[in-house]
Amino acid sequence: MLLKISIVVIAFIFMEFVAWFTHKYIMHGILWCWHKDHHNPQLRKGFFERNDRFFLIFAIPSFLCYLIGSLAEGYQAVLFIGIGISLYGLAYFLVHDVFIHSRFSRIKRINSRYTDAILRAHGAHHAKQTKEDCESFGMLIVNRKYFNSRRKI
Ligand SMILES: [Zn+2]
Ligand SMILES: [Zn+2]
Repeated sequence: MLLKISIVVIAFIFMEFVAWFTHKYIMHGILWCWHKDHHNPQLRKGFFERNDRFFLIFAIPSFLCYLIGSLAEGYQAVLFIGIGISLYGLAYFLVHDVFIHSRFSRIKRINSRYTDAILRAHGAHHAKQTKEDCESFGMLIVNRKYFNSRRKI
């Protein structure tokens, strides 16, 4: 049981690095054409963003993990990697789309140093609408400087 929980936790933490890497080198790289409307509201038509396509893409690896983990004999551990990936997807969705960008409802400010730092860090990411020169590509792991800054959120 402990092993299974550890696999889920490790997969979850690993996904923060995958998300950071993908955001920095793919979304601000070759697939900027899908991500740029997330940086520039004027490019959006309606509720959905082109950027939302990444949710579908990120669902594929966890789907494959569920499939392999439940069907292939001896690969049950893969199922727990899949669970870790989808839990991260859920956390990303709740933090990024529901909390930071208030896409579904206006959540009242949660007053904690950590959530304020998340807002500052992602606010700094959105400060530019360009592919280059952006900072703060991660989500849950926040650079120390955003904890102490007095920047308005
Ligand atoms: Zn970005
Ligand atoms: Zn954003």
